Amino acid sequence: MNSLEADEKLHIFFFPFLAYGHMIPIIDIAKMFAARGAKTTLLLTPHNASVFSKSIDLERSFGLDIHIQILRFPFAEAGLPAGIENIDDIPSPEVLPNHFTAIQMLQEPLEQLLEEHRPNFIVADMFLSFASEAAGKYGIPRFVFNVAGFFPQCVEENILSYKPHEGLTSDGETFVVPGLPDKIEMTRSQLIVHVKGNDAISTELWDKVREAEKTSCGVLLNTFCKLEPAYAMHYKNVLGKKAWSIGPASLGYRKYVDKAQRGKTTSTDAHFVLDWLDRKPPRSVLYICFGSMYSILSGGQWLELAAGLEDSKTSFIWVIRAKKKEEGQGVRFLPEGFEDRMEGKGLIIRDWAPQVLILDHPAVGGFMTHCGWNSLLEGVSAGVPMITWPMSSEQFYNESFITHVLKIGIRVGATKWRDSWSTVDQKDVSVKKEKIANAVIQLMGDGEEATEMRMRAKGLSDMANESVEEGGSSYENLTSLIEMFKKPSVTSPSISL
Ligand code: UDP
Repeated sequence: MNSLEADEKLHIFFFPFLAYGHMIPIIDIAKMFAARGAKTTLLLTPHNASVFSKSIDLERSFGLDIHIQILRFPFAEAGLPAGIENIDDIPSPEVLPNHFTAIQMLQEPLEQLLEEHRPNFIVADMFLSFASEAAGKYGIPRFVFNVAGFFPQCVEENILSYKPHEGLTSDGETFVVPGLPDKIEMTRSQLIVHVKGNDAISTELWDKVREAEKTSCGVLLNTFCKLEPAYAMHYKNVLGKKAWSIGPASLGYRKYVDKAQRGKTTSTDAHFVLDWLDRKPPRSVLYICFGSMYSILSGGQWLELAAGLEDSKTSFIWVIRAKKKEEGQGVRFLPEGFEDRMEGKGLIIRDWAPQVLILDHPAVGGFMTHCGWNSLLEGVSAGVPMITWPMSSEQFYNESFITHVLKIGIRVGATKWRDSWSTVDQKDVSVKKEKIANAVIQLMGDGEEATEMRMRAKGLSDMANESVEEGGSSYENLTSLIEMFKKPSVTSPSISL
C-alpha cells in the first residue's frame, strides 16, 4: 500500500455496551467494515476483551485491520466488586447503579483515545450516550448503534406518542398501536417499564438514548431493508430519523471467521454439537435458547417446559442459562431423570451455545426464542420458523413482528413483560406444558400453516443473504457510509446525512 492509500484508509472506533446482546452485533459490524478495507478499533474493557480477543486475533491473521483497545474498568472508583464488568456478571439489581456509574466513568478514557487517535468516526452503542459529548469535543462524527430493528422502534415511538395504553380498564385489555403500517395489537402487561412511565431511572436512560440519536450523524441498525420495508420508511419519513440498515451482521461475519467462536466460549464443543445434529433427519430438531442473559423464567416454568418438550416427542437442543445462585439454592430446572430419558433425543447445552452454527444446520427445523432482536435476525437468516416466548426488553414487539407481520412464528402464550432483574416466584408457571407441546408439534409438523411459515422463512433467508452480498441493500449502505468519509471534506459532525 502506498502512503496515499494509507492516508486514505478510514479508521473507525466501535464502542459497545457491556452486554453480549450488544457486543456481538457491533463486533460483527466492526468486522464488516474491516473486511471492506477500514481500520477498526474496538474499545473493550479487560474481561470483555478476553472473551473476544481470540476471534479478533484470528480475523487479523486473515488480514483484517481490526484491533482491540482496552479500557480499564473503574470497579473500585464506582464501588463495584472486582470482576463485575459485563451486565452478565451482575449478581443482583442493587449493584446496577454502581455498574452504571462505572460505565459513565469511561467517558474520560474515551476522550483521551479520541484525542490521541482522531478516528474518522465512532460508532457508539445506544446506551453509551456520553460518547456524544466526548466525540463532540474533538469534532469526531458519531453514529449510534441501536440493537433493535425498525419495527420495534416504530412501535415504541408510536406508543409513546399516542399513549393508547392509558385509560384501559385492565392490563390484559388489548389495544391497537396507532399510526403503523399494520394493525399491531398489544396489552399493557406486555409493555416495557419506561413506556408505562413508572420507572424514573429507566425513563431517564431512554431519554438520553433518544437525545444521543438526535444529535448523532445517524443510527446503524442490524437489519435489512427487505425484512421491514414499510417500517424502514416509517422510521425515516414519519419519525424523521436517519438510519443505515447494514445487517444481518451475523451473515457479514459468516465469511470471515469460524461461527463457533462467536461470543463466549461454548460450553459444549461445537464439533460435538454438529456431529449430534448430523445424525438427525433434516429439520427435525427444535433449537431452544432464550438469549445471552440469565433466564428470568422460574424453576417451575423450566420444569413445565421440559415436560412440554417430552410430551411433544420432538428432538431438541436446549440451552439452559440458569442463575448459579438459584441452582445453589436448590431450585430444580430439569425434572428428575429428564436428561437420561432424553438421551439421544435431546441435547442440553449449559450456559453458551454456538447459536448461529446450530441454526444454520439443516437438521434444525424450528427455533424457540425469547425474541431478542439478534436471535430474531439469526433465525430469519437461517430460514427457520419460530416459537415465540418473549420476556423482557422490546421482545413483545418483536414477537408481533415474527408472528403477525412476517408470519413465520407461533406464540407460546407469554403475556407479561418482566424486568431482567425482577425477583421470580420459583413456583410461577404461566405457560402450561400442553400449550408448549402443541406449539412444538404444530411448528415442527407438516400441517398447511407450518409449511407456509417454512416457505416464508426460506424466502426471507434468501433475501437476508442477498442483502449482504455485493449489490445488496446492506452491502451498498455500508459502501455509502465508507464513501462518505473517504471524501476529504466530510470530517465534521455537522454533516447532514
Ligand atoms: N447467543 C449465543 N449463544 C447462546 C446465547 C446467545 O451465541 O447460548 C448469542 C445469539 O446468537 C445472539 C446474542 O447472543 O447473537 C443474543 O442476542 P439477542 O438480541 O437475541 O438477545 P439478548 O441476549 O440481548 O436478550
